[in-house]
Amino acid sequence: MLEPGELARAVRRRWYSCVWVVLACTGLLAGSVSAESSRARLVTIGSGSVGGVYFPAAGVLCRLLNQERLRHGLRCAVEVSDGSVNNTRDLLGGRVDLGIVQTDVQHDALMGIGRFEDTTDGAALRALFSLHAEPVTIVSRLDAAVMGFTDLVGKRVNVGEAGSGTFATTSMLMRAFGMSGSDLARQYNLSTAEAALALCENRIDAFVFVVGHPNATIQEASESCAVHFVSITGAPVDDLLRKHKFFSRAMIAPGTYVGQEEKIMSLGVRASVLATAALDDSIAYEMTRAVFSNAAALRELHPAFASLTPQQMIDGNTAPWHPGAARYLREIGLLTE
Ligand code: GLU
Repeated sequence: MLEPGELARAVRRRWYSCVWVVLACTGLLAGSVSAESSRARLVTIGSGSVGGVYFPAAGVLCRLLNQERLRHGLRCAVEVSDGSVNNTRDLLGGRVDLGIVQTDVQHDALMGIGRFEDTTDGAALRALFSLHAEPVTIVSRLDAAVMGFTDLVGKRVNVGEAGSGTFATTSMLMRAFGMSGSDLARQYNLSTAEAALALCENRIDAFVFVVGHPNATIQEASESCAVHFVSITGAPVDDLLRKHKFFSRAMIAPGTYVGQEEKIMSLGVRASVLATAALDDSIAYEMTRAVFSNAAALRELHPAFASLTPQQMIDGNTAPWHPGAARYLREIGLLTE
């Protein structure tokens, strides 16, 4: 076990090393920005908070694209963000070129419902490809006795940052279980790195994270204090799975984290890479090419990608294909329409 101070230092160390890797991957370190790259077209990707999978995943995508910078003249960089809802709004506002977005959030934005009731702009979203599966994951303190979803009633729970997909999905799940935020002793909107600290310092009882596995935040929490992974099952889950195509059954394999010996059952979505129709075809084409033509490298660059197949990477989107991405996917025979 780590003392709280040690835990904070460990998180900071992990954070620094993450930032180092991403800066190095994306070529943003001062020394590595050549005269060539400063003339390149900058392509930005909205990711997530440090400690999740979106942030290092976006670093991997940028690295694969930047590898061929001299040929295509593009230079990719990662933006930290709250997550899916934030990335979608940034895409629609023209503040980023690409964004990683949960497939349920993608669906709602496209339809102008849920968090996007205020806008029809979501119709402009276009899909490049999908990435890893993201089970809805609840990590609680072992001593908080949270055995199922409804045991969150009366507990101090982090439901994700305001602009996260985690918050959007958790709200939907709470409605499905007949609950609302006011059933919790207190609802927190901390970043997940902060939530892991808060959990181990007994400031919250549980946090929810819709995320790929393994990831640094949950690893830190499970190595630092006694935690429990809560399976999410029952009639409300079956109902959601029947009603919404973007949900599928999900499982966290035994032994993914310290002290997690059993498989954890849940429901989940997929992470997808989106643009809007306004993105140049050549940029969508090059990013799709960089990722699919390096599929083996992709699987090695983050453990959450380890079993990702090309077929899974064209599943889960409700948005129409971006024409640039579709052109490449047809060239390699993955899309036939
Ligand atoms: N799915 C999460 C969200 O959109 C982010 C997960 C991550 O950072 O890997 O809020």
